[in-house]
Amino acid sequence: MTRTAVVIGAGIGGLGAAIGLRRKGWQVTVLDRVPAFRPVGAGLVLQANGLRCLAALGLGAKVRERGRNDMSAGTRDSAGRWLARVKASDLERMLGTPAIGIHRATLHEILLAALPEGTVVTNAEVETVTEDGDVAWRGPNGLVRTRADLVVAADGIHSMVRRTLWPEAPAPARIGVTAWRGVTPVWDDNLVVGISWDRGAEFGMVPLTDGRVYWYAAVNTSQPATPTQLVSPTQLVSPTQLVSPTQPATPTQLVSPTQPATPTQLVSPTQPATPTQPATPTQPATPTQPATPTQSAESFQPAAVEGAGDRQSPAEVVAQAAATAAAPPAGNDEAVQVRALFGTWHDPIPALIAATDTVLRDELACLEEPLPTYVKGRVALIGDAAHAMTPHLGQGANQALEDAVVLAAVADRPDGLAEYDRQRRPRSQRVARASRAIGRFGQQAQHPIAVAARNAILRLTPPRLALRSMARFADWHPPSLD
Ligand SMILES: Cc1cc2nc3c(=O)[nH]c(=O)nc-3n(C[C@H](O)[C@H](O)[C@H](O)COP(=O)(O)OP(=O)(O)OC[C@H]3O[C@@H](n4cnc5c(N)ncnc54)[C@H](O)[C@@H]3O)c2cc1C
Repeated sequence: MTRTAVVIGAGIGGLGAAIGLRRKGWQVTVLDRVPAFRPVGAGLVLQANGLRCLAALGLGAKVRERGRNDMSAGTRDSAGRWLARVKASDLERMLGTPAIGIHRATLHEILLAALPEGTVVTNAEVETVTEDGDVAWRGPNGLVRTRADLVVAADGIHSMVRRTLWPEAPAPARIGVTAWRGVTPVWDDNLVVGISWDRGAEFGMVPLTDGRVYWYAAVNTSQPATPTQLVSPTQLVSPTQLVSPTQPATPTQLVSPTQPATPTQLVSPTQPATPTQPATPTQPATPTQPATPTQSAESFQPAAVEGAGDRQSPAEVVAQAAATAAAPPAGNDEAVQVRALFGTWHDPIPALIAATDTVLRDELACLEEPLPTYVKGRVALIGDAAHAMTPHLGQGANQALEDAVVLAAVADRPDGLAEYDRQRRPRSQRVARASRAIGRFGQQAQHPIAVAARNAILRLTPPRLALRSMARFADWHPPSLD
């Protein structure tokens, strides 16, 4: 007898699960509340693990065709000085595949096209779910009730299913970072994938196909947890791991590869990170371009850290920028704000912002407290519903694809859902923890000494170590669905 599955949510995770389950013989219906799919969102970086999942779903070639794989990458400071660089060819040699930059809408379209018409029902908001597999959804003609052998809850970070069946689980928490994302329509410059860091701020750029460039920007809007939360050189991250702003860390283990240091040495203002690489406590945004009060990278220094009461927090800058920006807006109000914050950073950041019509804004959030299980009765949580993570490792969509393929591979076993939970929960929660930690080390680092130490570590880490750390989460192989 054919088994039935209802998938709630037609995002990357839900569509991936639907394709995988169909490959294994399930009869699948996908419900999504949106009236129609619009080409929203910005870019994603598909890493080796995500690409291998797409290959398992039979979509490897299509994705490679429509994504961009020239992903040599690097990290800079806000003045454009390189801190670290990684060659795409080295990464490909290590992982057997390059990373791919792709517009989320393009990936979504590829996944949608892999399902027969009628599989995905839009305008279908799921209202209730039970552990027994009863699903009630509201469509244009009222409430519809259905029952399935398996319910896949792929309904995103604010999952209704998680709220209903995991009532004890805390809601996703904001991490005190505002992020903006945009796609520049046509960009004819050669552009290296990269992230640039200043204090409590990050800007990243990823070239897509057709001359488009995906960029993101992030600033702290509240004090990061602690400036001592840094990573060891073997856990350093590379920009191709990023989707947006950026691996775990044994938070207090921060050392220079040449000169191990204790955590207290690294955060003490009187002691530089390494004797050979003195810390530069303050780095101007761009030495050649003096910053205006509303544009200053200094603005990222919180008064509490600097003891300078007249300095603005990023939140204040965000508010003031909207009110005082003198130049005409590059697009929507969000673009004005991003330009106010990043307009003095190195080229081509100001020009990328100026060339973007629509800028999306998010307050970054994640599930701080890992769930004790991803399954209840016939219901399995996948993707952001199960483990919403910060974007600092660029693994959100990649982990959702891993969930999708593993679930499809094991769901028809008698112990299928327990096995799904056994395989997926530890790994995805490890990745989520790592993503949170690298965010603190990278984009969120705000204290001048922590920033100087971070930059010194990046400069001193041998490329071989940086590569190995990149492979740490991306080098994962899905089960076969054949
Ligand atoms: C519109 C959109 C744009 C995005 N853009 C980017 C981007 O540019 N860059 C990036 O890195 N990440 C982006 N993301 C996030 C990224 O895609 C996800 O983190 C990752 O792919 C994991 O996705 P998911 O399938 O678990 O959840 P999501 O991609 O969030 O998908 C959840 C789906 O569930 C549907 N849904 C929610 N509640 C219900 C309900 N009660 N009934 C029916 N349907 C429901 C939603 O409409 C949505 O389609 C975006 C997400 C969305 C929804």
